[in-house]
Amino acid sequence: MSVLQQNYQAVLDHIAQAEARAGRQAGSVKLVAVSKTFPADDIRKVYAAGQRDFGENYIQAWYDKTDTLADLPDIVWHVIGDVQSNKTKFVAERAHWLHTVSRLKTAQRISAQRPSEMPPLQVCIEVNVSGEAAKHGVSPDEAVVLAQEVAKLPQIQVRGLMCVAEADVAEDELRWQFGKMQTLLADLNAAGVPADVLSMGMTADMEIAIECGATHVRVGSAIFGKRDYAHQS
Ligand SMILES: *Cc1c(COP(=O)(O)O)cnc(C)c1O
Repeated sequence: MSVLQQNYQAVLDHIAQAEARAGRQAGSVKLVAVSKTFPADDIRKVYAAGQRDFGENYIQAWYDKTDTLADLPDIVWHVIGDVQSNKTKFVAERAHWLHTVSRLKTAQRISAQRPSEMPPLQVCIEVNVSGEAAKHGVSPDEAVVLAQEVAKLPQIQVRGLMCVAEADVAEDELRWQFGKMQTLLADLNAAGVPADVLSMGMTADMEIAIECGATHVRVGSAIFGKRDYAHQS
């Protein structure tokens, strides 16, 4: 087994252990392997080990990888970065999921650009749950109203909520932030938007996120290694 495949297996084991500790059903948490900054060949190796869901942030770089990997028809692409308005078409035409909706206008453009023969794009509303100034996402107070508006768009299906929790904080604070997301998901359902997805948890905090109800964890460096951002725009 290659290093990547060993890393991948270790992440799957950690997820399974966290599911068991939290009393959650085995296999209930989906791993999104975050391959941003890594070459298409690395994605192939992890794909060969059985992974199908991959996450990417940088739209142009991701789009180029979708060309290179066009021979893998069952790969599932999750866009997890900010989408500038000149890049919405790429997402509309090539993505299966978008975890980072925080503006109605962007969602409207993507819905209009999504080819009618494709299934609706599966989306999460990104919530800035920690309230950090530098973070994307809507405030917790705005999430339900935005989700209700986005849910009306024909080529988009709202699936739930996504967050990036604060880095380097105490476990109590992390649990508070993830717990807030769980409450918001219940609020969303109560407000008439059926939603079943909580996209939260990364390399550093995926186990706590799973204990707090994450359904999708987005894990990059634990699988692919340390990132070099030098070549990304
Ligand atoms: C890069 C990134 C991840 C993966 O981060 P790791 O710490 O490498 O696991 C997850 N989510 C988002 C939004 C990211 O940008």
